[in-house]
Amino acid sequence: MTDIINTCTSPEPDYRKGRSLIEGKKVSYTFDGKEPVTAVRNLSFSAKAGQILAIIGESGSGKSTLLKLIYGLLGPQTGEIRYDGYKIPDPSERLIPGHEAMRMVSQGFDDLNTYANVWDNVSSQLSNTNVTLKERHTKRILKSLRLLHLQNQRIFDLSGGEKQRVAIAAALIRQPKVLLLDEPFNQVDAAFREMLQEDILEIVRQTGLTVIMVSHDPTEVLALADQLLIIRKGVRVALGNPRTLFERPPNPYVAALLAQANVLTPEQAGILGITSIRKVGIHRQAIRIKKQKDGLFWVEAVRFRGFHNELVLRNGELELRAIQEPGNPIEAGDSVNLQIDDYWEF
Ligand code: ADP
Ligand code: MG
Repeated sequence: MTDIINTCTSPEPDYRKGRSLIEGKKVSYTFDGKEPVTAVRNLSFSAKAGQILAIIGESGSGKSTLLKLIYGLLGPQTGEIRYDGYKIPDPSERLIPGHEAMRMVSQGFDDLNTYANVWDNVSSQLSNTNVTLKERHTKRILKSLRLLHLQNQRIFDLSGGEKQRVAIAAALIRQPKVLLLDEPFNQVDAAFREMLQEDILEIVRQTGLTVIMVSHDPTEVLALADQLLIIRKGVRVALGNPRTLFERPPNPYVAALLAQANVLTPEQAGILGITSIRKVGIHRQAIRIKKQKDGLFWVEAVRFRGFHNELVLRNGELELRAIQEPGNPIEAGDSVNLQIDDYWEF
């Protein structure tokens, strides 16, 4: 009986993992000015509870604006964003900026006090009503972000990656339901990026936190995100699982951005023996190359890319990018024939 009463009267939301927690419907936002800029256009999306949604797009595509709309720092002119079923209040409707269930870490560490130490930056987010609890919480969050050994250092003296960790710790200490991160890995050296990503994943796993992060570099978030929202000039071009979007990009833009795949016109596809009335996508790793006298293509360049060599293949106007298979001795200037293992139509 009490259970029934509780479910009827309690507004306590249901945070089950995987259910849609934040939903945007046909959201648009235009910055006023002499020349108004529409940063977000008719955009629909959703973020699921306990998952990581990554918003990907080139610089200027509207990512930061979208994050501010979700947090409630900006109010959409058309459409709406809901958190747990409730419309996110307009900035004009609230005294304190930002949604109470969320925290945002913006670019540039604006929220950190540069001359205070790590401990104070994080613990000052909590009130003094229970000093023991305050200490315990601070210690726990510093530990989970590997910051304990830096607790007495000033922010000023930290590396970019360490500052990012402190900013995340300060955002998380009051246990928000949603963490919004704007380009969180920008200032983090590549070597430390993966470790920070794993720590974020671990926090998400342990706490059921929902994360929405923004990035201009898809390679940063492919391993991290449960869902990708790809935007271009404020418009949604794709929303889906990273692996699915990578393997079968729904349009040439996503193919180039995520997978750097080859996109061919129907005529160009015909050169490779593929009949299609639509554009054709071919992954770099789906092209097998055989050295052959008087082959259809020639190798214009072999480029060292670290883990692999990239091959630039040419037949007149048609340029393809492929990956050199280990043990296949191809050199620039070679004449080759190609075998296409897999392709798709747009
Ligand atoms: P991103 O974060 O993807 O780089 P932004 O959301 O910052 O993109 O910006 C999207 C567009 O809105 C850009 O064309 C940018 O110039 C414009 N814009 C951003 N903030 C403002 C502002 N305060 N006033 C006017 N235009 C803005
Ligand atoms: Mg931005």
